[in-house]
Amino acid sequence: MGRLLKLLILVALPVVAAVWLADRPGEVTIRWQGWRLDTSLAVLVMLLLAVLAVVHGLGTAIRAVLRSPGRFLAARKSRRLKEGYRALSDGLTAVAAGDSRRAHRLARRADKLLPDRSLTGFLGAQAAEMAGDPTTAEKHLAEMVERPESAFLGLKGLLALALKRGDQAQALDFARRAWALQPGAEGLATILFDLQARAGQWAEAELTLAEVKRKGSMGGADLLHRRALVLDQRAAAAEAAGDTRGALTLALDAHRADPMFVPAAARAARLLHRLGKDRRATAVIEHAWRAAPHPALVEAWIALAPAETALMRVKRMERLVRANPDSLDGHLGLAEAALSARLWGQARTHLSIAAEATPSARAYGLLARLEREERDDDAAAAAWTAKAAAAPAASSWHCAACGRQAETWQAVCAGCGAVDGLEWR
Ligand SMILES: [Zn+2]
Repeated sequence: MGRLLKLLILVALPVVAAVWLADRPGEVTIRWQGWRLDTSLAVLVMLLLAVLAVVHGLGTAIRAVLRSPGRFLAARKSRRLKEGYRALSDGLTAVAAGDSRRAHRLARRADKLLPDRSLTGFLGAQAAEMAGDPTTAEKHLAEMVERPESAFLGLKGLLALALKRGDQAQALDFARRAWALQPGAEGLATILFDLQARAGQWAEAELTLAEVKRKGSMGGADLLHRRALVLDQRAAAAEAAGDTRGALTLALDAHRADPMFVPAAARAARLLHRLGKDRRATAVIEHAWRAAPHPALVEAWIALAPAETALMRVKRMERLVRANPDSLDGHLGLAEAALSARLWGQARTHLSIAAEATPSARAYGLLARLEREERDDDAAAAAWTAKAAAAPAASSWHCAACGRQAETWQAVCAGCGAVDGLEWR
């Protein structure tokens, strides 16, 4: 309605003015520098209006011409940005989809269109890596490291490449620098910890864990287990340096951090025994034995009294079995002690428990010994020995990553460098 009214006024006004002027004819004479112009008022007004219109039009045109280069450039820039970001997002999609050629093409396009290298560098690095060109990927990532806003991402990329080519020293350097930028960063903590552990830098690894604890970026049980690992390894170093008391303190701390961590409990018990603290050693082994029974603890238990009589050993092994009756290693240990003490009935009882629960070469071997020593029954003994040969091999330490078998527990696999990767199976 408003627009219609405006239009009406715009059309009607000149018409009304023209009619009004036509009704009132008048002469106008202009003299100027020897010129003379005779005309009517109506024509003069029309002429003036025409001049005004021309001036206005000229002004608009001049303004438009003056402004146009800026506007043209701005439009071009915005179009380039738009296309650049599209190339970037399409490129990242191509990376995710595993389309290396498309990713590479789009990375180059984004690189050309976008001024922000921190974004295009990431895509470029990913595309180069997919295309099997780590050198170009590294170049992109190194550029990213130079800019504060993309440095962390760049270092993480360089770290991944260093790990891939197995360069531990370089990887540790990149991980440390990334960690300094974002201490406690999730995902980075375990990588840095493992690299420090592999390099034997246990004190530094402990600092990493302290930072992780402060940021709360790792689960409580995992954190405590890693802490136990670190403290146990520091205890090993102290022990090797002849500092028995220092080693003991560290080993006890390790045992407290994770009572299920058998190597620390065994080490603490051994050091306590060496310092004449057998009661405390007994308590440590029992504590660990309840949490995680293991043959190494039976060994440590026996080592507390290497010179005891066979009967005394049976008494002490009974105590261990009572502390955790579910452990077959306890029953086997007690059966062996009973055999040595010639307590045949007790030996048979505990061997049956162990052999029925899990067939093992060790249980069958002890049953053969029982048949031979108690009854002189060579035929029965031979039958058990045959069964022993066919039974599953005894458990031992194996690396979960590379499968390598180890005589004793190790913090770092000697085969593949996996940290804390040994499992008992
Ligand atoms: Zn391994």
